[in-house]
Amino acid sequence: MPGGKKEAPEATRIRLKKGDTVKVIAGKDLGKTGKVLRVIPARGRLIVEGVNFVKRHARRTREDRAGGIHEVEASVHVSNVILICPKCHLPTRIGNTALADGTKVRVCRKCGEVIER
Ligand SMILES: [Zn+2]
Repeated sequence: MPGGKKEAPEATRIRLKKGDTVKVIAGKDLGKTGKVLRVIPARGRLIVEGVNFVKRHARRTREDRAGGIHEVEASVHVSNVILICPKCHLPTRIGNTALADGTKVRVCRKCGEVIER
């Protein structure tokens, strides 16, 4: 095909899961830690508790009687955070391994412990 090959958009495989504690390693919230509230696999993004607050202007509705400006967490890209290992409490990359029964689990690359969930 003329025009050179086009890179396929890389599908980001998210290894983080809801409930994981992550540390922000880029952007305005650098250094903050928080729990993963939501994973958005299609966009390679996460909602992290207390991270990337943005102001949203909300119209007054029946559910939201106050209306006005709300601060809500916006998503952050998965590459901007790193898992904090629940065992050794260090920021770590996630490895994969299989248990004796074949179950695939995540492991901490720092301490080698299995990360639950
Ligand atoms: Zn660890």
